[in-house]
Amino acid sequence: MKIEHVEAINLLYQYPENDRFQYAGGVCTNRLTTLILVHTDTDHVGIGSVYSHPALIYLIVRDQLNPLLIGEDPCNVEDLWRKMYGLTLWYGRKGVAMSTLGGVDTALWDLRGKSVGKPVWELLGGERKTCPAYASGLLWNDVDKLAEEAGQYIEKGFRRVKMRLARSEEYDTLAVLAVRKAIGMENDVIVDASMRYHFELACRMGSFLKEQKIFWYEEPFAPEDIDSYVALRQIVDVPVAGGENEFGLQGFREMIRAKALDIVQPDTSRCGGISEAWKIAEMAKESGLGVATHSWNDAVAIMANAHVVSAMSNGITVEVDQMSNPFVNDLLVKPLQIENGELQLNHASGLGIELDWKVVNEFRLDDPLVIPDGVYSDMMFGKSYFPEPIGYKEG
Ligand SMILES: [Mg+2]
Repeated sequence: MKIEHVEAINLLYQYPENDRFQYAGGVCTNRLTTLILVHTDTDHVGIGSVYSHPALIYLIVRDQLNPLLIGEDPCNVEDLWRKMYGLTLWYGRKGVAMSTLGGVDTALWDLRGKSVGKPVWELLGGERKTCPAYASGLLWNDVDKLAEEAGQYIEKGFRRVKMRLARSEEYDTLAVLAVRKAIGMENDVIVDASMRYHFELACRMGSFLKEQKIFWYEEPFAPEDIDSYVALRQIVDVPVAGGENEFGLQGFREMIRAKALDIVQPDTSRCGGISEAWKIAEMAKESGLGVATHSWNDAVAIMANAHVVSAMSNGITVEVDQMSNPFVNDLLVKPLQIENGELQLNHASGLGIELDWKVVNEFRLDDPLVIPDGVYSDMMFGKSYFPEPIGYKEG
């Protein structure tokens, strides 16, 4: 099998007024993601995805990764990863270049599975054909509505929910109490502080979260603020999670060596693909840490992450975005299946997914270099939509 070309397709969705949600970054107006397709001289097409700046992904694929990969055997995944990393090293290593080569890497894993008729979880040495999954939603809202929403996730078959905090200390406390009461102690509550706490607040909330038996306490600080993570873990006795804003094995190595985290959260569509997420998970395992991948862009990324988590003995759970995102709900011919809190991976080859081309074409961004202004959950375009920056303060 030989690679004929690599394609990046940017997708953009504009929320109707009623489906917009409020969170620490503002009011989310749009969502985006980028699909990576690796076309070959066979019937097989590898599918991956990237969550980063769409115009930059497009240029990196068009001008560097596509010319590099044409004619190569897509099953030489490790060799091709090394070549892509080497080519983008000078401006890459972290951020969009790492995320983009990771999207290609995921598509190569999909092809590697398709070429031998095996699922990726099996190629990785896994034994589980399902992966624990959690409902990720519960953005800023009235606490009564949060309780109702949390209950709906349990009715849908989830056993674990994640909520967003960092609105105010009073709101955060009341919101956690309401969700805990709604779903009981038999289900898990996860909280995400979206990098917006200062150290004293993070300590106070940590004690409260311990009382509430919170499953994990995510991103109280920016990823650069490793010292605060380390200090917090010495004070609070609740599992601290982070890593969705970190890239590559080197970035995670720094956090793991510093003992900044209990649970590491790589994301195949951001951190460098299935290959790099796997290495990060192995490093976490050597340090006795759990892995719970991040995911917030599309169903391709959720499935790619799920194959890694299910195959890894320290894999805990995978994130499933519940915010009416069509790239999660509608992008695949066969939608994500959650039963008893488990995402079904089955024995289908590769990632086990098929894109719904009607949906791809409906949301395709016409000009990849022109992105309409708005709040795209993690990225913002147009100065009037920019939030207060999250700065790293030394000391
Ligand atoms: Mg998060």
